[in-house]
Amino acid sequence: MVLAEPGWADEQTDTVLALEDVSLTYNSDNGANALENINLRLHEGEFVCLLGPSGCGKSTLLKIIAGFISPSAGNAVMDGEKIKGADWHRGVVFQQPPLYPWLNTQENVKFGLKMRKIPESESQKLTEEYLKKVGLLEFSNNKPYELSGGMKQRVAIARALVNKPRVLLMDEPFGALDALTREQMQSLLRNIWWESKCTILFITHDVDEALSLGTRVLVMSKRPGRIVKEFKTTFTYAISGENSNRVRYTAQFLKAREEILELINKQEFSYNI
Ligand code: ADP
Repeated sequence: MVLAEPGWADEQTDTVLALEDVSLTYNSDNGANALENINLRLHEGEFVCLLGPSGCGKSTLLKIIAGFISPSAGNAVMDGEKIKGADWHRGVVFQQPPLYPWLNTQENVKFGLKMRKIPESESQKLTEEYLKKVGLLEFSNNKPYELSGGMKQRVAIARALVNKPRVLLMDEPFGALDALTREQMQSLLRNIWWESKCTILFITHDVDEALSLGTRVLVMSKRPGRIVKEFKTTFTYAISGENSNRVRYTAQFLKAREEILELINKQEFSYNI
């Protein structure tokens, strides 16, 4: 059965971002690597999901790409240039959205544009456009404490997207949300990705989430973190195209799910006792 036509995102498209033989050792770790020999290419328009046991280095990898930390060895490169620090071309969304509590929704979204000295009229136009996209236009004047968890996360997504980043980096963005909100957020994100064609790196520990969003799913090993397996997936196109969740119950989806879970569980329980 053909589930879907794969879209624009595959190895034929340009490389936006690359990690080349990247290793990272935290100072406190006496030389033990948190990440080891990571080679990764993100292609234009890809939606890459990163899965792996807790502590395997997923957040560390994302922080290197974001430019928050530098690798101990190897290179992180965007558009052929070494990543030297945080940059609005790489938007970041965390599990707990760090919104400014004294700013309202609109001001939170506009904050980065203000820092970049984008003229007020353009900032206002962009802010409204992105608040509309995430369905929060009528909550423009509400403060974060007046918003639900899902709404706060939508503000964080709008705040990252309003800068029109080339790459969106998301660290378990829906991990703290209830199941229903989570599914709505997945659908919102899929539509935004579909529309904007931006490149997404998405960390999750939920295999279903990875398979139903990603065009590629990468599985990492437990510490030291390495990429041990890669799955190309097309389920997200089917869910988006048919606007249906039926694909999650197909034999192909369940088989991929089982294979990934087996890979992760094997690592989780392979400690020497
Ligand atoms: P994951 O996101 O997969 O749960 P992390 O990237 O957060 O993993 O962490 C990878 C490893 O590095 C873990 O063993 C963690 O304890 C360690 N680690 C993370 N951040 C730091 C830090 N700032 N200093 C020292 N060790 C850290």
